[in-house]
Amino acid sequence: MSEDCVFCKIVEKKIPAKLEYEDDLCVSFHDINPRAKVHLLVIPKKHISTLKDMEKNDAEIAGRMMMAAKEVAAKNDLDSYRLLVSVGSEAGQEVFHLHMHVMSPR
Ligand code: AMP
Repeated sequence: MSEDCVFCKIVEKKIPAKLEYEDDLCVSFHDINPRAKVHLLVIPKKHISTLKDMEKNDAEIAGRMMMAAKEVAAKNDLDSYRLLVSVGSEAGQEVFHLHMHVMSPR
C-alpha cells in the first residue's frame, strides 16, 4: 500500500467508492467522473504504479484484472465495451495506481 494513493485508500475502505467486485487480488468500482453511461475501473489491490512496473510474478494479477473486467461488464449488462489502460502521464494516466477502465460504448 502507498500512503497517499487514492486507490489504495479505496482498497482499504478508507474512502468510499461504489464497489462492483472484489476478490483477493483486485477490486472494481464506478469511476467518480464517468465518461460513458457505464464507466468502471478495475484495479489490483497491490500498489503497482503503472503497467511498466508490473513484474513477471504479477501475471496472476494481470489475468485476474481481465477476468474481473469481464465479470463487471456482464453484471452491468454490457454486451459491447472498451477496456483502456493509460500508461504514463503523456498517455493520460492521472492516478498512479494501475487501473483498467471498462467503458460502455456511450
Ligand atoms: P486515468 O486518467 O487513466 O489515470 O484515470 C483515472 C480515473 O480515476 C479517472 O477517470 C478519474 O475520474 C478516476 N478517479 C479518480 N479518483 C477517483 C475516486 N476517488 N473514485 C473513483 N474514481 C476515481
